[in-house]
Amino acid sequence: MKPHDLPCCIVEDLLPNYIEHLTSQDSDEKIKSHLNHCEHCQKKLLQLQAPIQPVGEPSLNTDAAAVAFFRKAKRKTLRQIWCSVGITLLVCALTVYAVILHQLPFHFTVENLYRLSDGSIYFELQAVAPESNISSISYHDGFGHNDSDYSIHMGYSLYTLLQAKSGAKDTEKRYAFTIPTEIVNQISSSGQLVYRQSQETLVIWDGECTLPAAPESIELQASATASPFSVIG
Ligand SMILES: [Zn+2]
Repeated sequence: MKPHDLPCCIVEDLLPNYIEHLTSQDSDEKIKSHLNHCEHCQKKLLQLQAPIQPVGEPSLNTDAAAVAFFRKAKRKTLRQIWCSVGITLLVCALTVYAVILHQLPFHFTVENLYRLSDGSIYFELQAVAPESNISSISYHDGFGHNDSDYSIHMGYSLYTLLQAKSGAKDTEKRYAFTIPTEIVNQISSSGQLVYRQSQETLVIWDGECTLPAAPESIELQASATASPFSVIG
């Protein structure tokens, strides 16, 4: 410590005022001359001049903190988008599974195949494997593009799957069909009457063999059959 030099404790007390230029010119000179050789007080001065940081926060500058924040937000948004895409694909896959694979055990035998008195054909399809107890099914029929067979198809539509009562099984369900005379004539000249389910084809009538005439009970049943089919039994 030089002569006339201030002791560290006095300099430390004066530093806050010195920074704010509140000290006298005489004091300023003494503080400067002390700071020139005292590392301890230089450090104290730097600490007082450093910008104030919140306790516990990392000492990032404001721009870097903002960039980090937005990067984090962007990563979070991307994660949410990928999650949504993943969930959507999973739902689609489960729907395809439910609609296509759920139909596989939906098989039938042909019963009560008769020629009605007006020339139309009557037959019933009896479910031989348990199926979900549903109140309606999707249906389409018609002549195929590549073959001359008249094809009937039934399947569970999405709507009917929603209607299905889970757990309820029913093998007693029977579907009654009446094929109009004009279509019967077309089938007999071109192909067969078939039921198609997935890759399987069930031949109902080959279009050639003579069908037995329907008994009275079947004539009555057929007249009560709604177009294109009814659920009976
Ligand atoms: Zn000092």
